[in-house]
Amino acid sequence: MNSSDCIFCRIVNNELPCFKVYEDSDFIAFLDIRPANRGHCLIVPKKHYENLLDFDEELLNKMMPVVKKVASAVKKATKADAFNILLNNGKEAGQEVNHVHIHLIPRFKGDQVNISWGRREMSNKELEETTSSIKRELE
Ligand code: 5GP
Ligand code: ZN
Repeated sequence: MNSSDCIFCRIVNNELPCFKVYEDSDFIAFLDIRPANRGHCLIVPKKHYENLLDFDEELLNKMMPVVKKVASAVKKATKADAFNILLNNGKEAGQEVNHVHIHLIPRFKGDQVNISWGRREMSNKELEETTSSIKRELE
């Protein structure tokens, strides 16, 4: 995908409007158009990278401080009790926009937002095998 086909690139290039809350030389943050809750923001690098595994390491290092800064402001502004940060990586994980981004979702006591997954039982053997295979890839 090139940037003219990408919604977030078009937002970055001011070709599409957004409710922008933050901008610096590398990132913008704007309100999600279909928010899970009031104040739901997306933190987006200005340069197009499809997902976390493509993403530039230097920018990655710069991203979390931006998330923290925006999170602090959003939490105060919305009087949120808490927040989730979330990155959907790949279609099967729910990624709809193929331009890497982090969701910042303010949470309020008693809200009905559902960010959860089922818990499954796993045997020690399966846990051991999974650990070994991941460690092999990390070597
Ligand atoms: P994903 O599922 O890729 O992690 O999240 C994409 C998010 O982008 C969704 O929550 C969706 O509501 C939001 N979104 C999609 N198109 C637009 C748009 O044109 N403007 C804004 N502000 N958000 C968008
Ligand atoms: Zn893009």
